[in-house]
Amino acid sequence: KRVRRGDLSAASRALSIVVNEDASSESLAKEFFKASGSAQKIGVSGPPGAGKSTLTGRLIGAYRARKLKVGVLAVDPSSSISGGAFLGDRLRIMEHATDPGVFIRSLASRGMIGGLTYAIFGAIHVLETLGCEKIIIETVGTGQDEVDIASVADTILYVTTPSMGDEIQAMKAGAMEIGDIFVVNKADLSGRDKAVSDLKGALGLGQSAGQALKAWEPPVVATSALSGEGVAELAKTSEAHWVHLKKSGEGRERLKIQHATELRFWVHCHVVKNALDRVTDKLLEDLVSRKTDPASAGRKLLSL
Ligand code: GDP
Repeated sequence: KRVRRGDLSAASRALSIVVNEDASSESLAKEFFKASGSAQKIGVSGPPGAGKSTLTGRLIGAYRARKLKVGVLAVDPSSSISGGAFLGDRLRIMEHATDPGVFIRSLASRGMIGGLTYAIFGAIHVLETLGCEKIIIETVGTGQDEVDIASVADTILYVTTPSMGDEIQAMKAGAMEIGDIFVVNKADLSGRDKAVSDLKGALGLGQSAGQALKAWEPPVVATSALSGEGVAELAKTSEAHWVHLKKSGEGRERLKIQHATELRFWVHCHVVKNALDRVTDKLLEDLVSRKTDPASAGRKLLSL
């Protein structure tokens, strides 16, 4: 009830309970799930150093100017630090830390029973219950995307820079496919126009190479997170994608994918892991002495 009323400290506590899967987490998580499903979840992806964090800070500013309530989840798959310690140097984000309309939380992977992606879903539902209309999910790790942001977010911003021009050519096909909006950040540096046209070219090539023409053609937006240039256009483009998701029905399809992923994690955690936890040395001995076989033992573990 307190989270629904917008109580930030209750939300903070609820997040810890859900993320750490404390004993009371399941009944709480059910309530949070019921109250969620309407916010735009914006994933910010791209190589380290591209300016994701600085840009996230700018986006928060753009949304706050429209009086929207914003949630930010900074996800670090490689770190075990939690509670905001590694957010300390994300200055542009932390500028908003005292704004009651902004809720910022960092999530690190280690020690989470169901895994990081599952925890992100739980955290999103809490933020939505809190009334966040925009939830920005930023990966702050090493750039090895352990977190499958595509199965968590509705709109994915893929951030590059002019100096990454050559890398754009070799950009992983995966990045090309998941990006809904491509951002050439650091547009204050030289090479911006070339980077934008290279990226547009690469996106066009992807489509003519047999890919079905998507209803939404991923636009390329140039920004400088440092000066703020282009940020308003980026926020506008992100809004246009949100409208597209709602009008075309694609948003509902994405929600289904997200829920399927969340469900898969739950089942994995409660069924697969539970069963495997019951594998004893005695059972392994029985396998070695051929008293049983993997299929029979497996069926027994799953009570099939
Ligand atoms: P992340 O690792 O992708 O989150 O990147 P950060 O946001 O931490 O930014 C990496 C560095 O690039 C920092 O020193 C930023 O100040 C700088 N930076 C971010 N955006 C811009 C920009 O638009 N222009 C310039 N010149 N530098 C930027």
